[in-house]
Amino acid sequence: MPPDVAAQLARLRADYLTRLPGELAALRDLADRLAVGDLDRAGIGELHHRLHKLAGSGGTFGLAGLSARARALEVRAKDWLQAPAPDAATRAAFAAEVGALAAGAGEAAAASPVPAWSPSPTRPHERAAQVWLVEDDPLLGRGLKRQLESFNYQVRLFPCLADAEQVARDACPDLMILDVTLNEEGEDADTRLALLPRLRALHCSLLFISTVNDFHARVRAAQLGALGYFLKPLDVPRLVNRMEQIRNQQRAAPQRVLIVDDDRDLAEHYRLVLLGAGMEAEVLDQPEAIVERISVFRPELVLMDLHMPAFSGPDLAGVIRQHDKWTGLPIVYLSAETDLELQVAALNRGADDFLIKPLSDAQLVSAVRARVGRARQLDELVSKDSLTGLLKHASIKEAAEAETARARRIGKPVTLAMLDIDHFKTVNDSYGHAAGDLVISSLAVLLRQRLRKSDVIGRYGGEEFVAVLPECDAAHAQALLDDIRQRFAALRFSHEGREFGRTLSVGLACSAHHPDATGAELLIAADEALYAAKRGGRDQVRAAPAPTLLTP
Ligand code: GH3
Ligand code: MG
Ligand code: MG
Repeated sequence: MPPDVAAQLARLRADYLTRLPGELAALRDLADRLAVGDLDRAGIGELHHRLHKLAGSGGTFGLAGLSARARALEVRAKDWLQAPAPDAATRAAFAAEVGALAAGAGEAAAASPVPAWSPSPTRPHERAAQVWLVEDDPLLGRGLKRQLESFNYQVRLFPCLADAEQVARDACPDLMILDVTLNEEGEDADTRLALLPRLRALHCSLLFISTVNDFHARVRAAQLGALGYFLKPLDVPRLVNRMEQIRNQQRAAPQRVLIVDDDRDLAEHYRLVLLGAGMEAEVLDQPEAIVERISVFRPELVLMDLHMPAFSGPDLAGVIRQHDKWTGLPIVYLSAETDLELQVAALNRGADDFLIKPLSDAQLVSAVRARVGRARQLDELVSKDSLTGLLKHASIKEAAEAETARARRIGKPVTLAMLDIDHFKTVNDSYGHAAGDLVISSLAVLLRQRLRKSDVIGRYGGEEFVAVLPECDAAHAQALLDDIRQRFAALRFSHEGREFGRTLSVGLACSAHHPDATGAELLIAADEALYAAKRGGRDQVRAAPAPTLLTP
């Protein structure tokens, strides 16, 4: 957790503890009035509300015992809101328990566990990923470094972990690939691995390569936090695919959460905890502004208190769900409500889940992370191809259309590239469908790594891709795609000990040469150029010729 967030959380907790005696005195006062029969229904309502608040917030600020006792009393007070007033003996007993609760509140406030903070969301998105490779075999090390560099990774090679640790004092990679041989006898491996916990403090992702394929070695790797375990001889495209997955997670934008809770301390505490976990979080102060706030902040999840004085959580959820575009927005209720029937009723009114207060900071973070993660996955399933993570056919066609229109508007060129792997069918035939999939996803990784963030890439068909390159003229596109063609041709895939590679044909169409063409027409021109490349012998990039001007 960043130090400033930790300090703010500590201050919030200190403020809460300072205000707590006042809260408890007010509570005791109400209980005393209840005992002598001086509390009307509104007063009982207030008593219930204060107990409810205490039950919800106490645990968050480290007073779990107080929270639990307040909860038990709250449940009893709630019954009196509907039923006839309790008799004198019951009231006196209740007041005594509230007194005991207030008196016992001096328990030490235990700090809640600090959630793991991942620094990745604040890292810049555009630069090439920094990879440290720890490999004691110089030949393998240099070869792997070169191959990773062709995918645009910036690779630094270390012969041993201790050397990497030296450098780690002033630098930090995004990913570290370690050659470990976990089961081998001898001190060497253990001495090396003893350094790992220190390097893990860098928060960088770890991938292991090893010669040993047994279960215990893999368990040990998992215990050391490895996100991947790759056997020698290395299948580099498979390794790169895993690296790419990790990078995508690292690069993912921070999750956005809107908090709606009338208890300001608690809302602020949640906000800081989520902030500390690398998310963006905002608190809604005025429920009336919820629609406007959601439009501006575009949260991916709404964390909603169930009971608020002016509007209930389900009321606000209902308002959110009236808008078509937010029917899928995850809403999670947060409440000290333990009544199962009420929970079910609340869920029936437009929310997705229920979190019971008090909940620990770690629980809050993991609950939010999991739900937003799932919502993002669903979103991706709709528009992205599952094998490559690229846009699907319809979406890339839309992007081609939109970028072509935009290019005309701003008077700059856009170039569309259509790529197709040469003799791909023979990969499936000779090495199997899984090997074919790997070749397809490797080309996707290469495209993502070599193209700019503003370029749009899609999987057009089986082994056919489209790249939309805004503000890129034909000459630049030709050079760029030719570089990608060469890098792809240099990739070596291996299947059961047999190595193979493939080449790529590319067709280009630039809007500068086809000024009146729509996106769909440019795609046809790029496709024709692709077929010219195929007929011309494959492994080449061809541009669609500008249409000849017909003079009258
Ligand atoms: P050319 O050089 O003319 O492009 O030859 P080719 O063999 O690449 O061309 P063709 O388009 O005939 O073959 C494409 C093959 O790609 C056919 C199909 O079985 C295979 N394919 C399509 N989608 C996938 C996929 O997702 N995974 C795998 N492994 N194969 C696929
Ligand atoms: Mg092909
Ligand atoms: Mg094809």
